[in-house]
Amino acid sequence: MYELKTEACFDSAHFLTDYYGKCENLHGHRWKMVAYIRTANLQEEGTMRDMVLDFGVFKSEVRALAKELDHTFLVEEGSLQPATLKALEAEGFNLCVLPFRTTAENLAKYACERLTNAGLPVSRVDMYETPLNCASYMPQDLL
Ligand SMILES: [Zn+2]
Repeated sequence: MYELKTEACFDSAHFLTDYYGKCENLHGHRWKMVAYIRTANLQEEGTMRDMVLDFGVFKSEVRALAKELDHTFLVEEGSLQPATLKALEAEGFNLCVLPFRTTAENLAKYACERLTNAGLPVSRVDMYETPLNCASYMPQDLL
């Protein structure tokens, strides 16, 4: 089995609904996303012969996702009043409304699914919300 990993960071705000602690308040993180791709065999021909995948292709997909999330407010769908969302948008804030609670665990799963949908053989995504705290997600079929 061969595995590659690359990482990208993004700065985003969020808050956790139904949480009794300081994370219920709006705050920001420098999220670090570490993505792993895995294949049993290396490519056999062409410019990627003897590679899992060209690092350039891998990095550009991970960086594109980080860029999309960078300097946004990650909002769980339904967690803010519609009038609040409208007001934030009217002020020009860049919102990223997601259909899940914005925990590091769910963001790791979301990144894994997005990168998989982009055609990468993703085996794992680590989502650091601080340098010392990280949640990981691995697709079920690889466990
Ligand atoms: Zn947080």
